[in-house]
Amino acid sequence: MAKAIAKQKLYELIRQMKYKCEKYGITFMQVSRFFPSSKTCSSCGQIKLDLKLLDRIYKCDCGLEIDRDYNAALNLAKFGKLAD
Ligand SMILES: [Zn+2]
Repeated sequence: MAKAIAKQKLYELIRQMKYKCEKYGITFMQVSRFFPSSKTCSSCGQIKLDLKLLDRIYKCDCGLEIDRDYNAALNLAKFGKLAD
C-alpha cells in the first residue's frame, strides 16, 4: 500500500512540474529511471558500478572527489544541455 502511495505521489510531483514548466515557458525534461546520474563521473564520464547508497562522496579514479548528489546534478545538467 505504501509503495502504491509513493508511486502516486511521484506521479503527482511530475505532473505538477510539467504544469509549472509549461506555465513559465520552461522546457520540461525527464530522463530514464535507468540513467546512471549518480554513478557517472561528471568529470571524465567513467561509470562506477559499485557505488552504494551509503557512499555520500563520489570518488573517481580520475581524482574527482565530490558530493554524490552534486555529481548527479552536474550529470543531469549536461544531459539537459546535450538534449536541448
Ligand atoms: Zn572521473
